[in-house]
Amino acid sequence: MDFKFQRKRLNEIPEAKILDELEKAAKHFNYIEFGHREFSKIADISGSLVKKRYGGWKKGLEALRKRLQEKGLSLSPRPHAPNRIYSDKELFAEMERIWQKVGQRPSKTEWEMSEPRISYPCYKKRFGGWTNACLKFIEHKMGGDILAEDFVIVEQASQQVGKTDYKKESSRDIPLGLRLKVLSRDNFRCSFCGKSPATDFGTKLHIDHVTPFSKGGKSVLENLQTLCEACNLGKSDTFIKVGQ
Ligand SMILES: [Zn+2]
Repeated sequence: MDFKFQRKRLNEIPEAKILDELEKAAKHFNYIEFGHREFSKIADISGSLVKKRYGGWKKGLEALRKRLQEKGLSLSPRPHAPNRIYSDKELFAEMERIWQKVGQRPSKTEWEMSEPRISYPCYKKRFGGWTNACLKFIEHKMGGDILAEDFVIVEQASQQVGKTDYKKESSRDIPLGLRLKVLSRDNFRCSFCGKSPATDFGTKLHIDHVTPFSKGGKSVLENLQTLCEACNLGKSDTFIKVGQ
């Protein structure tokens, strides 16, 4: 029902009106290519409507180019802007989009094949390397300092090489790659209550052993789950949950 209604409304807007709006935006942006978000901010219609109508933003711009051409005008490609400063929010949003698309931490090739809106080198430069960029993203998704705490443990453990408690500490630590797999599998949400730092303010996520480490539970994907702090703290070693 809703869908039909939406379609009807979309079709009710004449193409000429859409092209007028695009042309108005072109003028606003000094005839330099613009994105659908920028367009939405200044036009009477939304960028997503243009995308729906033409089957993509680029195709919408093609239609605009044709119209401008008829008037002896043109739309210059957007200049390469290496100095554009993206906010952390923009950087993380784009990383999440591609991460979800490839279903894991994206490699350089996977990133570049995913039509990124922000370049791979941009992340490397901003965060001092790709791994760090991914770490910052995870930290952001987990709600803050959880990883930092883990790193303290790792650092302490490496200083204690040779001491008896080193092995005990380090074997409990969950390798980063595995941690990312667990988070990605659980869609960065608590497996119990579904909360995520992205949508529920103040939520922090932990990686939890289903069968506790102290009860012989191993640090393997099948025995790990994402829990929010509240759900995780309500759990003790004597409480063994049934696996999912
Ligand atoms: Zn929870």
